[in-house]
Amino acid sequence: MALKDLLIVGDGFSAAVALIHLLRQGVDTQSIAILGMHSPGRGNAYGCTSPAFRLNVREDLPIIFSEDPLHFAKWANEHIKDPQAKTSAGHFYRRGDFGVYMNQLVHDQLDGRALNHIQGVAQRITGSDGHWRVELKTGEHIDAKAMILATGNPTPTWPCPVQIEQIFSNLTLTENPWPSDYLRRIPAKDHVLLLGGGLTALDAINGLVEQGHQGKVSVISPRALFPPSQAPWVRTKQPQWPNPITPACLVGFMRHYLPNIPTDQSEWQCAWEELRPDLNRIWQGFNAHQRRILMKRFGWLWNLYRFRASPQTIAAYQKLRDQQQIEFRCGRAKAIAVRDGAIHVTLSQGEVVHGHHLINCTGVARDRLLDQLISDAIASPDVLKSSITIDPQFNVLNPKGKAYQSLWMIGPATMGSLGDVIAASAIAKQAEQLAKAIRLNWMPSSSVQ
Ligand SMILES: Cc1cc2nc3c(=O)[nH]c(=O)nc-3n(C[C@H](O)[C@H](O)[C@H](O)COP(=O)(O)OP(=O)(O)OC[C@H]3O[C@@H](n4cnc5c(N)ncnc54)[C@H](O)[C@@H]3O)c2cc1C
Repeated sequence: MALKDLLIVGDGFSAAVALIHLLRQGVDTQSIAILGMHSPGRGNAYGCTSPAFRLNVREDLPIIFSEDPLHFAKWANEHIKDPQAKTSAGHFYRRGDFGVYMNQLVHDQLDGRALNHIQGVAQRITGSDGHWRVELKTGEHIDAKAMILATGNPTPTWPCPVQIEQIFSNLTLTENPWPSDYLRRIPAKDHVLLLGGGLTALDAINGLVEQGHQGKVSVISPRALFPPSQAPWVRTKQPQWPNPITPACLVGFMRHYLPNIPTDQSEWQCAWEELRPDLNRIWQGFNAHQRRILMKRFGWLWNLYRFRASPQTIAAYQKLRDQQQIEFRCGRAKAIAVRDGAIHVTLSQGEVVHGHHLINCTGVARDRLLDQLISDAIASPDVLKSSITIDPQFNVLNPKGKAYQSLWMIGPATMGSLGDVIAASAIAKQAEQLAKAIRLNWMPSSSVQ
């Protein structure tokens, strides 16, 4: 394949917003190529087909264009027919419909120009500044002068060994539930086991309730707790953070700032959202040791409250709870076995939970491509040891801490380096900044229209 000027690795939301903002900056379509198996924009988050999988934020929050923050809200009002989206906390649209929006934005931005979309999966990256090579699973390779890594959320893998001793056609094991197709394989009266108690488990619950599930649902999770429902919230105050600030000060200040009321109350969520915009700056000011301590002690709490669920999804959970159809089984799965006509999940304390369908809701796995960059000494692990290190301008750092000038990364994998960068609007902001920097500092003038 011919040498590419700029290759975007990945085809999800991050890749699509990078493409959109590069084109808006006037970068020539012909100098950009995208690598991935699907049409850009949907990815793991918005490629689901179930109408029960909803955005966990109201309609004004996924901001793609900083100068037009209500672009999605207006588009949704005009194009999406979904009367159930409306709640007292705002409109919570289906994730699949947001995927349609993203596809449409890419289409509109291309304005009839062809996109160089290479079908394939990158399995190895080699090279150095200005000369990168991506090896595909098929054995082919792509050479590029510069690259943006946008591989996103690696799909979930089982957290413990799975032993299938016998095959039973009525039992199902779903390792990656994000596409949502497993729901149609679950008969209404069967016993469903959800491994994990976060937003993916809540998606499954909403999906089951929408299809009239009557059987039992067991949630296997270390804590008998789900993220709270979104309430109506607005930011009215600006917190006066202590200066200088340590991790202990940060936690103390947040505790004091948050009212002592349930987390699904508006007042609590207003305060939480007032704290949030400053957290990335504060995170970036901490050293590696401080970041690790903070995540070790408060990571689970942070993850619980950072992610809130749509009101529709929490209503589905409450319905199952009121019908006494759902239970928590506290613990961590240690082994999974299929035998004697059932799925058996053994928990760390020895207890065994049985059911007909097991859905893995344990969250993201490791990104093998990023691991390869670390093992080949092209990049270095981030402080959380879950991704690679980048600088605040999104440049990937080599193991000596020097920034590459032609290798960038955006999306959820930047969290260890930059902080709370999971939500669509945070990633879109990264893409907007990166596109401007690439246009100004890197793209040869012949590649800019
Ligand atoms: C299930 C789920 C639901 C979410 N819901 C919300 C929500 O409601 N609101 C919100 O604000 N945020 C939500 N998020 C947060 C989400 O992280 C971001 O919104 C965003 O979707 C991340 O996009 P991405 O492209 O970086 O990652 P992904 O969506 O994971 O997409 C990455 C894409 O790159 C491809 N890819 C990966 N590796 C390679 C490779 N080696 N070669 C080629 N292609 C590759 C994948 O196949 C995939 O298509 C959700 C995330 C998930 C996982």
